[in-house]
Amino acid sequence: MQFVQVQGEQVPALGLGTWLLRGDDCRRAVREALEVGYRHFDTAQMYGNEDAIGQVLRSNMVVDRDQLFITTKLNNRNHAPRDVLASTDDSLRRLGIGYVDLLLVHWPVAFEALPATLEAMVKLRDDGKARNLGVSNFTTEQVETARRHAPIFCNQVEYHPFLAQPDQLALARDRGLLLTAYCPLARGQVAHDPTLNEIGRRHHKTAAQVALRWLVDQEPVAAVPKASSRQHLEENLAIFDFELTDEDRDEIAALDRGERFIDPPFAPAWER
Ligand code: NAP
Repeated sequence: MQFVQVQGEQVPALGLGTWLLRGDDCRRAVREALEVGYRHFDTAQMYGNEDAIGQVLRSNMVVDRDQLFITTKLNNRNHAPRDVLASTDDSLRRLGIGYVDLLLVHWPVAFEALPATLEAMVKLRDDGKARNLGVSNFTTEQVETARRHAPIFCNQVEYHPFLAQPDQLALARDRGLLLTAYCPLARGQVAHDPTLNEIGRRHHKTAAQVALRWLVDQEPVAAVPKASSRQHLEENLAIFDFELTDEDRDEIAALDRGERFIDPPFAPAWER
């Protein structure tokens, strides 16, 4: 496993996204992910699966807590300071852990209330319940605002070969932030792309592996692909034994078409 070094932390560059994994499917995927070597898990209050993940973490006797990197995200309705505190306690109870490694504001809704939200998150950090704080789906300008109110560790954004994020990448590098790529497989669509398949053929890898390797090569980027089958779980982790060439990278960069898969009504005005 490759790690991203951010603010003195080592974050596994490849994690498991868990959106839409629920119940038995979620328990099985998380258990198999731990078995094959995943140590970074991405969940959210909104996903309704913290309890299922927690059941596996509690029953897992092999991996020490300090080897895991667990992210959760505040629900949009939990931005008031008292809800930040209470809902995070609920998340920790469901996950069965004493702290999360990263607590994110899931979406920049009610942006004017952000200072109070962040102040409550800082209290959680001071109380040892969240080791690091961050945001998700924030524009670069919104990240800069957030940084004036709290120590921000991460912005998590949609990022894949069909959606370039040069401004977010530049900001993360300038400010020493983790940039987590969500929907890194373009919700599975990368598997059908001829260019990515051709590059994969040259390296005896799949299109998905090419997309993930391209992302995690761009420090400080971590990627959290969701996978439910053991085959996909293993495939997505097996990306550290080959190198993309400059020519490969140029071909992948040319695939950018500004395509967004996640754009709910409460999304901010995206910068590009
Ligand atoms: P994704 O990871 O880009 O794609 C998941 C899809 O790709 C699934 O259908 C999966 O199928 C398939 N897949 C996985 N591995 C594959 C492989 N090797 N070859 C071909 N297909 C493969 O999309 P996502 O789940 O929407 O995003 C990933 C994670 O990002 C989420 O689970 C969540 O944790 C996070 N996220 C965060 C936000 C946010 O607002 N912060 C928004 C969206 C997502 P199988 O399930 O059948 O394996």
